[in-house]
Parts: sequence; C-alpha cells; structure tokens
Amino acid sequence: MKKPFVTKAQLDAITARYPTPFHIYDERGIRENARRLKAAFAWNRGFREYFAVKATPTPAILKLLHEEGCGCDCSSLTELLMSDKCGIRGEDIMFSSNNTPAEEYQLADKLGAIINLDDITHVEFLEQSIGHIPEKVCCRYNPGGVFTLGETREGFQVMDNPGDAKYGMTRAQIAEAYKLLRAKGTREFGLHAFLASNTLSNEYFPALAKVLFQLAVELKQETGCHITFIDLSGGVGVPYLPDAPENDIAAIGEGVRKVYEEVLVPAGMGDVALCSELGRFMLAPYGHLITRAVHEKHIYKEYIGVDACACNLMRPAMYGSYHHISVSGKEDAPCDHKYDIVGGLCENNDKFAIDRMLPKIDRGDLLVIHDTGAHGFSMGYNYNGKLRSAELLLREDGSTELIRRAETIDDYFSTLVW
Ligand SMILES: *Cc1c(COP(=O)(O)O)cnc(C)c1O
Repeated sequence: MKKPFVTKAQLDAITARYPTPFHIYDERGIRENARRLKAAFAWNRGFREYFAVKATPTPAILKLLHEEGCGCDCSSLTELLMSDKCGIRGEDIMFSSNNTPAEEYQLADKLGAIINLDDITHVEFLEQSIGHIPEKVCCRYNPGGVFTLGETREGFQVMDNPGDAKYGMTRAQIAEAYKLLRAKGTREFGLHAFLASNTLSNEYFPALAKVLFQLAVELKQETGCHITFIDLSGGVGVPYLPDAPENDIAAIGEGVRKVYEEVLVPAGMGDVALCSELGRFMLAPYGHLITRAVHEKHIYKEYIGVDACACNLMRPAMYGSYHHISVSGKEDAPCDHKYDIVGGLCENNDKFAIDRMLPKIDRGDLLVIHDTGAHGFSMGYNYNGKLRSAELLLREDGSTELIRRAETIDDYFSTLVW
C-alpha cells in the first residue's frame, strides 16, 4: 500500500505557511535510493549516475543528488546553465540531446561536458559549432525494430518501438561515426541507447546491456576505437499502481554484472565504465503533489474539485497515467466513495483520477497525489493562465524548505507586450 511520506499533522503545519497546491520532495527517500543505486553498481569501477535534469530541474534536487555522487544529464541550454550554476560542470555533465542547436554544443563544450551525439551528421555539425572535435565523445545507438522483453513478472510487459523513435544512429551509421570521429581526433568513445521507458522489470537494464556490450565488442573489432564507457541511460521505472511490482535495483545491478562478465570481460573490455541517466527512478516516488479539495459537485458523476490542475501534473491528462491519491489523515478509512478528482482547466481531460474509489472527501481535505517527483512539476505549463506552483523539500530533520517559490501574476505578465 502506498503511504504518504508526510503525515496530516505535518501537512497542516506546512500548509499554514505555504498555500496549496505545491510539490514536496522527501530528502531522506531521495538519498537512500541514490545510495541503493550506487551500491548496486559498486562492482563497476567508474560507475556514475547522471540524473536526467528534465525530470526535476530544481537546483536543490540537483545539488542533493550531486552530494550523493550523481552528475547531471542535460539536454538543453537551460539545463546546462542550471547545472553550471549548481557547480556541476566538466565531466559531471552528460549532454544527451537531440536535434541540437549549435549554441548548445558550444556551451556544453565550454563547460567541459561529455557530449553524446544523436546522429551521424552531428559529427560535422559539432566540429563546425565548436571548432574542434573533443577527445571523448559518446554516440547514441538505435537498433530499430521492436524491443521486447516478453512477459515479465506479474504480466507487466516491456515493449517499445525503437524503429519509430527519432533518436540515435543505425548500426551502420554508428560504426561510420566512430571512424569519422577517430579520424578527427577522438580518443575515448562512449556508447548509449535508451530503448524503453518506465520499465517495471529487473530484466530491462541487463537486456539493454547485452545489446550495448555486444555492439561495443563488435565496434572495437571493426573500428579499433577505444570504448571507455557505456551509458545505459534512463528507463528504469517505478510502480505508479499500488499493486505493481517494484524494481529491485540490487537485482538489476547484479543482472548487468552477469552480462558484463559474459560479454565484455572475455573481450578484454573489463575496464569499461558504466553510467546511467535515470530520472524517474531517482525522483518519482519521492515527490507528492499536495492539493486541497475545494468543491464538491454532484451531476451524472461525483466530482471533487481541487486547487491543482493538469498544469501542475500533466501525466494523467497527457498519457492517461495513474497516480495514486491519498486523502491526508484518512489513509486507513474505507475507500467507499467513487470520485472523479478534477482541476479547473477548461479541458475535460483535466482529471487526476476517474472513477477512483476513495474515502469520503470533505471540502478542505488535503489530497496527496503520489509519485510526482519526476516529470511532474517539470512538465508544467500555463494554460488558462494557471501559475506554476512552489516546490518544497522535506529535510531529513523534518523541517521544510522552499526550493522554488510559486509563480506570481507578475511573473506571468512579465513577458507580455501591452
Ligand atoms: C528522459 C531521458 C532520460 C531519463 O528517463 P527516465 O525514464 O526518467 O529514467 C535519460 N536520458 C535521456 C536522453 C532522456 O531523454
């Protein structure tokens, strides 16, 4: 069962200082999880997690993860600038972008980031953009076709269509890109692929590792390039549904180790460092969107209107995603009422839950929307003139810190020309 990481008493105190809605993150949960990831891959010398900044682009979060040894995975100019302002630069940045403008390569190069090329044409584009080719470059691979793990635990299937994805290079192109880069001066090569998102299977990373490790061995034979790191990227998921299986990061690390010893070690590549660019796995469970029930409406269905809307959390409206909801202080009450939990946008998809069985909700109740720590606040927008919320950090000592203030009308109006 999903339980909020904040109690009603804590939320009553917090909401007396900070009006709803807001996102709140759990420092303890974030740190403990980051340590579990690190321990799971401790067998690999040089293992590094580069947190996918787009999941939660908030300096306090980036710094906290940096204290736990994580770098930043950036994919835009703003994310590079934020990482730099947090003091996270040089090879602490992986720049994994696509359709990249020249100025972004220029900044990535200036900061000393590791650049991950999404396309073969970007070898020349990068050279033209920054005036040279870096000594260390990563290339993104797209195997095409369909990637599937078949049935995994409890019927959760992992399937994705790399063949329809805009990312990465084909098998032939990546060999060509390596040769081209080497001719232009690259000495250290990396290999990257991202084949499935939000996977609930301990088999995803090992299966991806097998694809990448075998490719690395082939590329080394074909091109003679020195591959020093392999980037397993993101995609390890979290159980949004209360009865979904949870990934076991220790088992995932162990699964990757087996493949490493099977494929890389015999090929004389036992010195390859691994890295990841996890976003969701690092943060999603450690964030809640806190919102208050403001209205009750009885028409053909029962509605609870809350003070948050899809602008604060787009996933349900955009993908029909499930986010668990707790009514603060009523965690153990029977779920004997069926509600649609709705925001105030003039869009009928502005629903956090549809036909959800919940305890009886009274106006003024605080609702905890779970698993909003990644791709939550960051996907926010301003439709209907809604303003972005604040973000808070629940410290390990129980105190609460404002890590991003709420947007104001003045912020919103500041770009307008009257
Ligand atoms: C989005 C993204 C990630 C993070 O994905 P998660 O599913 O949040 O783990 C990592 N790398 C790249 C290049 C991405 O675009």
